Amino acid sequence: MVEPIRIADAFKKAQPGDSISVRGWIYRTRSSGGIVFTVLRDSTGILQCTVIKGELPEEDFKSAEKALVESSVIVEGVLREDKRAPGGREITAKKFNVVHFAERFPIFKDQTEEFLLDNRHLWLRSREMTATMKVKAMILRAAREWFFENGFIETTPPILTENACEGGSTLFELKYFEKKGYLSQSAQLYLEALIFSLEKVWSLTPSFRAEKSRTPRHLAEFWHLEEEAAWVTLSGNLEIQEQLVSYICQYLAKNSREELEFLGRNPDDLKVIEPPFQRISYTKAVDILRDKGYEFRWGDDFGTNEERELSMLDNKPVFIIRYPAEIKPFYMKITPDNPKTVENADMLAPEGVGEIIGGSERETNIESMKERLLRENANLENYQWYFDLRKFGSVPHSGFGLGIERVVRWIGKREHIRDTVPFPRTVARLSP
Ligand code: ATP
Ligand code: MG
Repeated sequence: MVEPIRIADAFKKAQPGDSISVRGWIYRTRSSGGIVFTVLRDSTGILQCTVIKGELPEEDFKSAEKALVESSVIVEGVLREDKRAPGGREITAKKFNVVHFAERFPIFKDQTEEFLLDNRHLWLRSREMTATMKVKAMILRAAREWFFENGFIETTPPILTENACEGGSTLFELKYFEKKGYLSQSAQLYLEALIFSLEKVWSLTPSFRAEKSRTPRHLAEFWHLEEEAAWVTLSGNLEIQEQLVSYICQYLAKNSREELEFLGRNPDDLKVIEPPFQRISYTKAVDILRDKGYEFRWGDDFGTNEERELSMLDNKPVFIIRYPAEIKPFYMKITPDNPKTVENADMLAPEGVGEIIGGSERETNIESMKERLLRENANLENYQWYFDLRKFGSVPHSGFGLGIERVVRWIGKREHIRDTVPFPRTVARLSP
């Protein structure tokens, strides 16, 4: 028996004329007369197998004729060049062993999005989902590498919390023994506690937000990459962000070409993503929008259309900095010479994609934070531990949160954010 190789290696390592074996699942199959054309899929690609009656045991030929799409098989044969086959190669089968005869697969062409979501556990086998998950894995790997190489320490903040970080309206509440608890919306407050010993930290955790509006950018559960560092002000925070995002883009352009191209992303688009990214003040952004005909009042938050407009200002991400304090959370530092704005920034990805990162320098003035929390009707009791961080060796510090799925959506050119996670959680969906 020949040891199976991966399908990608049938194109990259093996040579025409070699006897090889591959294993995987039937991607499509058709038979005519004494020939069965079966395309096999494994995690690395697809390969056509031509099964000719008389050239392999009769029993194997019958199996090949009978096996439906998604049957799992092991095929042995001779690798050949054939221009008509996908990728220009195929194998002619000498053995065709069906490991499991699949029932009729419910997914075929032209089915509704709803149907595919109901059958997500099976739709995961599609080439689109496979390529997207590989791109996502590469983005995570790039980010982890960048943090490691730049002296940041990975930490593990809690998911069960008593505090609201991003405001009460999107909290998932749960019963925590005899008390109320919440699923974390952000690890930020905990990462802030960790900088006093580790200085430069990051974490990757799921964050939960009960987003009731259905948009192509919001999930109820997403993977949140967060960073926090001591001795860093707004400008340093932006430099960290643009370096990280540029590193991810260069890494993907280099290591995920095939998947990106399959998803419709030209890898060269990512090569231009290098520091510096433009910094545009919120106030300037308002002027830009007005010049373009938007009726927009200073003090309002950008809606989808405004964000799309701003995210088309460059072919790289742009920062919008110093938003009105009124529309931002209590922990963002008030701009020293302007009490109306905070030292924050959103990073907007190009091509109309919009926000992928939100970050800020953190407030160090306890009274200012208390005032803002009270305006949001928060229970100050729950924040005493957080105020302690400003009482014992407080330092300027900054951090940010990046939505992994937002980045996958941008880089992988996905229309909807739900297609960047295997099992999306939205207001309408908790299963499969
Ligand atoms: P938005 O205005 O788009 O709702 P936000 O201001 O609520 O975003 P932050 O609280 O700053 O976002 O969170 C940091 C990052 O987490 C965002 O820049 C985004 O990339 C990601 N993010 C936030 N909410 C979601 C969500 N519901 N689904 C997926 N990613 C999200
Ligand atoms: Mg939000």
